[in-house]
Amino acid sequence: MGTALIKLLDITTSVYFISGFCIIFFGYIAQTLALQYWFYCRQGANANLWKIQPPSPIADAFEVQQQGTSRIGAPIGGHLNILYGWPLISCKPNRAPYHRYFTSFNLFIASCFAGLTCYYSGTMQNKMEFHKLKDYDDYVKVFLQFIVAVTYQSVVEYYWHRIMHWKYCYRYLHKFHHAYKAPEPWDDMYIHPLEAFGYYCILYGPPFLFSIHKYAFIAYMIIMGICGVLDHSGIKFEFPGLYNTIDHDNHHAKFEVNYSFPFPFMDLLHGTYEGKFWGKFYTVRDKVNRDITIEEASCKTNFKVE
Ligand SMILES: [Zn+2]
Ligand SMILES: [Zn+2]
Repeated sequence: MGTALIKLLDITTSVYFISGFCIIFFGYIAQTLALQYWFYCRQGANANLWKIQPPSPIADAFEVQQQGTSRIGAPIGGHLNILYGWPLISCKPNRAPYHRYFTSFNLFIASCFAGLTCYYSGTMQNKMEFHKLKDYDDYVKVFLQFIVAVTYQSVVEYYWHRIMHWKYCYRYLHKFHHAYKAPEPWDDMYIHPLEAFGYYCILYGPPFLFSIHKYAFIAYMIIMGICGVLDHSGIKFEFPGLYNTIDHDNHHAKFEVNYSFPFPFMDLLHGTYEGKFWGKFYTVRDKVNRDITIEEASCKTNFKVE
């Protein structure tokens, strides 16, 4: 027990752990704040140009009830024109129960995973490669490693997400994440901590499972980190033919479509994609959550604003 504690202290005070922890912790806060400031604060008046969904009627009704008027005074944007910092120190109003505690704890867990990954990579205790890239073959290899990592995440995350929609997993874990039908900045971390732990095991898995160069892993983490925040921002972003924030937003709005993220390929393969891809509109072939009632899926039974 004593040696385990000393080991833990050694790890968490190492420069590797602290660096990895800070990159994710402050990187996430900076990216989320920037999106919130640039769109929700500065461009609140023309939200119809960039917002994917109109605001939740629950949030608006709550606001009117609390203040006699809606801050927005327009039918779009539950949190427009206001800047909220990290939820623990400046919680957005009208959030789901324990929003600030769940999101803050999950950000801490995510940062710890990043810290541990940096520590085990920096001390050569996993499969991360650090050699210098000398020729064309090296660059091709790094690019292929990046593709393998993205493919691994897309496949494993898809089945993990499908499992989360099984009746009991949904009822006790995944239902929290579905409390928001139109997610906005800071809402992506509203996940049951057990589900978050499983997801971070998948996300940070590559250097522990297969050989991957540091540049391939950094590129993979940048793509996953940015898309994870964008997917729950409520803001329209599109990389034509590859990525569209509307896809995961639709998963929150419609519940039975678009399980894969950030890219739609696994959904296209399984017939669970709904949306436009390469000019063709797809609808879901088979509804896979028939054992979960609409009432339960919509979280109406326990969703009360804070
Ligand atoms: Zn889901
Ligand atoms: Zn989500």
